[in-house]
Amino acid sequence: MSNKRKQQELKQHRVGKAERKAAQALQAGLRAGSIIRVDKSKVFSNSVLPTIPEYYHDKWFTCKDCGEEDLWTAKQQRQWYEEQGGEIEAIAIRCKPCRQKEKLRKTEARKVHLEGLEKRRIEKAESGHRG
Ligand SMILES: [Zn+2]
Repeated sequence: MSNKRKQQELKQHRVGKAERKAAQALQAGLRAGSIIRVDKSKVFSNSVLPTIPEYYHDKWFTCKDCGEEDLWTAKQQRQWYEEQGGEIEAIAIRCKPCRQKEKLRKTEARKVHLEGLEKRRIEKAESGHRG
């Protein structure tokens, strides 16, 4: 066997090993739930050429608000993309506590806004009576 051929075979062997290892990691992840297969029929995208992954992987990200590291699990991703209709391009930007704070802030802002509208409506009605 020529040296060149030997090298090629060795290379192929290594690639095969890496592929097997990746396949094993995938199977283990699927069993553990840290990797979930994407149901592409349920995924929504605004892009003309969406890049939809084959799998959701547990993913670490840095919170935009407090800078904490947080884990966005494959399960949460599936929920977000397939059940809540989140765009496939959208990714987690806030940790859980900050998301709750943000939600509360929005609810509060909306309440204030509605109260403001209601107050103006009453004032208008009252001035209408007087005028
Ligand atoms: Zn945070």
